[in-house]
Amino acid sequence: MTRIFGCLTERHDPLTVAIAAAICLAAALAAALLPQAGNQARDRARRQARGRAGLGGAWVRPALAGATLGGGAWSTHFLALLAYDSGLPTTYDPGSTVLSALVASLGGAAGFLIWSRAAAGAWLRPLGGAVAGLSVAAMHYLGMAALQLPGRVTHEPWLAAVSVLLAAGLAALALDVLRPDVLRPNLLRPGAALARRLGAAGLLLLSVVSLHFTGMGAVEVWPDPLAAAAGAGMPRPLLAAIVVTGTAGVLAAGLAVLAIEARLGAAAEMAEAERLRHLADAAFEALAVVDEAGRITDSSSRLGALTGLPREAMLGAEFTALLREEDRAHAWEMPQVVLASGVPVELHRRAMETGGGPRTVVALRDLRERLESESRIRHLAHHDTLTGLGNRAQMMQRLEEERSRADRTGAAFALLYLDLDRFKPVNDVHGHAAGDRLLQQVADRLRDSVRPTDLCARLGGDEFVVIQSAAGLPEAAQGLAERLAARLSEPFDLGDAEASISSSIGIALYPTDAGSSGELLRAADVALYRVKEGGRGSFAFFQAEMDRDLRRRRALEREVRLAPARGQLSLAWQPQAETGTGEITGFEVLLRWNHPERGSVPPDVFIPVAEASGAIIPIGHWVLRAACEEAASWPRPLRVAVNVSALQVQQPDFPAQVARVLEETGLDAGRLELEITETLLISDTERALGTLRALKELGLRLSLDDFGTGYSSLGTLRAFPFDKLKIDRSFVRHMTEDGPSGGMVHAILGLSRAMELPVVAEGVETEAQRALLGAALCEEVQGYLIGRPQPIEAFDELVGRGPATAQVVDRGAA
Ligand code: C2E
Ligand code: CA
Ligand code: CA
Repeated sequence: MTRIFGCLTERHDPLTVAIAAAICLAAALAAALLPQAGNQARDRARRQARGRAGLGGAWVRPALAGATLGGGAWSTHFLALLAYDSGLPTTYDPGSTVLSALVASLGGAAGFLIWSRAAAGAWLRPLGGAVAGLSVAAMHYLGMAALQLPGRVTHEPWLAAVSVLLAAGLAALALDVLRPDVLRPNLLRPGAALARRLGAAGLLLLSVVSLHFTGMGAVEVWPDPLAAAAGAGMPRPLLAAIVVTGTAGVLAAGLAVLAIEARLGAAAEMAEAERLRHLADAAFEALAVVDEAGRITDSSSRLGALTGLPREAMLGAEFTALLREEDRAHAWEMPQVVLASGVPVELHRRAMETGGGPRTVVALRDLRERLESESRIRHLAHHDTLTGLGNRAQMMQRLEEERSRADRTGAAFALLYLDLDRFKPVNDVHGHAAGDRLLQQVADRLRDSVRPTDLCARLGGDEFVVIQSAAGLPEAAQGLAERLAARLSEPFDLGDAEASISSSIGIALYPTDAGSSGELLRAADVALYRVKEGGRGSFAFFQAEMDRDLRRRRALEREVRLAPARGQLSLAWQPQAETGTGEITGFEVLLRWNHPERGSVPPDVFIPVAEASGAIIPIGHWVLRAACEEAASWPRPLRVAVNVSALQVQQPDFPAQVARVLEETGLDAGRLELEITETLLISDTERALGTLRALKELGLRLSLDDFGTGYSSLGTLRAFPFDKLKIDRSFVRHMTEDGPSGGMVHAILGLSRAMELPVVAEGVETEAQRALLGAALCEEVQGYLIGRPQPIEAFDELVGRGPATAQVVDRGAA
C-alpha cells in the first residue's frame, strides 16, 4: 500500500489527477444514471407517445452507459498517466492507445448489456459489472503497454492481480446495486432510486480509481538507455488533446442522452405517473397495486378512506386482509365483498407489467351509494312517493298473491276501488301542494281504517285501491266501504283552508266477480263508474249487468267525440217570454244529436258522457259559435242563451274564446247570455269568480241555471256577478199542486228578490203555472207553453225574417 500512496502523492501532478478524477466521476455518474431496465412494452408505448423523438431500442441506453464508463475510464487512465511523472521523456504508441480505448468502451457496453438482461437472472447484473470492470482493467494494461519511454516498465504481479480484482469486483457490486426496478420513477420514494444510482456511481468510480492507482502502484520503471527510444509514438500534448477531445465527446454524448431522457422520458414518465395517481384519486374506485405474493405495493388515497387504514399500514400487507374474514377466501369469485371496515365493494382486477415485475391493479368500487339507491329504487318501484302507500306494481303483485292463496284455500277477498270526488277543484283552487296534502291525509285515513293485513295502494291521481282479505265477505267489504266513505267525508286540513270531498267506491269480489287479477280490477272499476254516474259519494258492488252498461257507455263516449266532425249535431231553439205580456225576449239554445242508428239522442244522456270524456269542450265551442252566428243574422236583436258546461268555463282562456267568437260572428255582446250551473261555483270558487268577472267585462249576461238544485248558500251566490236566475223545471212541474215544490218556488223567488235578481222559470207547460209564476212576480217564463225547442227555421217570423227576407238577410250577411 505504501507504494500506491507514494506513487499517488509523490509522482503525480495534483491538478491533472484532479481533472482525471472529475472525468472519472462524471463517467461513473453518467453510467449509473443512463441505463433503464429493458421493458420493451413500456418503451414501445412511450416511443409511440413521443413519435419520432424516441431513442431507439431498449439496448441503446445500457450500451451507451457502458461505453461512457469505458471511455471515461480510458480518459481517466491517460490523463492520470499524463499527470504521472516518471522522470523520463515519454511518448505513446497510437495502435495500443486506440485499441485500449476500444476495449474499454466496447467492453463497458457489453457489460451493461449483460446487466440489462437481468430479468433472465439476477446474477447477470454482477456478471455484467464484472465484464465491464475487466474491460476497464484490460484497457489499463493495454494503455500501459502503449507507453514508450527510455526504460523498462515492469509490474508487481500481486498488485496487478489485486488491481484487476478490485476493478472487476467493485464494478460487479456497482451494477448489482443498480437494480433495474429502482431505476423506474418510484411514486412512493423518488429518492430511493437516486440513492441507488449514486451508490452505483460511487462504486464505479471506486472501481476505476482503485484499478488505476493500484495498477500504477504495481508499476516499476527501470531506466534503460538500451530500451526503445521515445519519439516514434504520439507526444504528450497530442495524446492530451486526443484524451480531452475523446472524453468531451463521450461525456457529451452521455450527457446529451441524459438531458434528452430527462426531458422526454423521466419527465414524461413522472407526469404520467402523476396523472395516473390523480386519476386514481379522482376516480370513483379506490385502487390497490398488489404484487405476485398478494401484497399491497401501492394504493390510492381513496383506498384509505374505504378501509379506514393509514397508507403505511396497508403497504406490504396482504390485500385480502382488507376484507372481512368470511370474504377473504373467495374474494375474487364474489360479485361483491365487504371490507373489514364494513364497506361493501365490488372488486375488479387487472394484470399489469411494471418495472418491479408483474402486478395486479385492484379497483374497489364503493357500493354503498349504489346499494342505497337500489333499495330506494326497490322501494320506489313498489311505493307511491307522495303517500308512501303501495303503488300499482305492488298492488298487482299483492293481487296475484291473494289470488293464488284464494285458489288454494278457497278464501275470498275483496278489491275496493276508490276515487275521490271533487279532488280536481281542490287542486286547482288551492294549488298542488294543498292537493298533495289532501292525498297524504287520505292515505293516512285509509291506513287507519284497514287491518294491517290489508293492502292500501295509490294508483295515481286520486285513485286508490284497498285489497281486503277477510272472513265474512261481502259484509266485511261493505263495512269497510262504509267506514272509508265516512272517514273521507270528514274535512281535510289544507294548511290555510279546509276542504270537504267525498269518495266513490267500487267493490269487486274474488272469485265471485272475476277469474283473474285484471278482471277483478276491471270489475271494481266498473262498479266505481256506476257509483260516479249515480251521483258519487257512495259505493257499489259489481254486478254483471254493469259491465254491459259500461260497454255501451264507452261506445257512446267514442261516438259523441266524433259527432261534431260527422255533422250529427244541430241546435234547437226554445223561446223565452215575459211572464206578463207573453212577449218573446230571446231563445235558449239546446243541443241536438241525431245519430244515424241511435236516432235523436237526448242531451241528458250524451252531455254527461261528453263531460266525462272532455269532449264537451270542442262540442260546447261549436254550439257557442253556431248560436252566435245564427243570432247575428237576425233582423231583430233578440237574446240568445247558451248553456256552457263547467269544464268549458274552467279553461283558462275561456273568456278570450268567447270574445273571439263574438268578434268573429259580429254578435253584440249584450245579446249573449251564458247559462252556467252551480257545479262551477262549488268546484272552483276563486277562479270561477275571476272568470265570470272577465266574461261580464265583455258585456254579456250570466244566468245561473237549474237554480234550487244545488247547495250553494245565498252568500256564495251573491258574490257572483249573475244577471238572472233560472228556476229548475223540477220545481215548476209540481208548483200548481199543493206540495213542497210550490212552496219551493215561492222560497226561491223570495231569495232572488233578496238578491235583486230577475228570475226565469223553465219547464212552464200550463197556463196555471204561468199565472202562479206571474203572481209570484217571476219575470220570465220558458217552456212548452211558450214554445218547444225547434230548429230556428220554425221561428223565422219571430226573429224578423219571413221566408223571403231571410234569404236577403242571409245574402247580406254572407
Ligand atoms: P236545461 O238547461 O235545463 O235545458 C232545459 C231543458 O228542459 C231542455 O231539455 C228542454 O227541452 C226542456 N224543456 C223546456 N221546456 C220544457 C217543458 O215545458 N217541459 C219539459 N218537460 N221540459 C222542457 P233538453 O233539451 O233535453 O236539455 C237537457 C239538458 O241538456 C239541458 O237542461 C242542459 O243542461 C243540457 N244541454 C242542452 N244543450 C246543451 C248545450 O249546448 N251545452 C250544454 N253544456 N248543456 C246543454
Ligand atoms: Ca239551460
Ligand atoms: Ca235547467
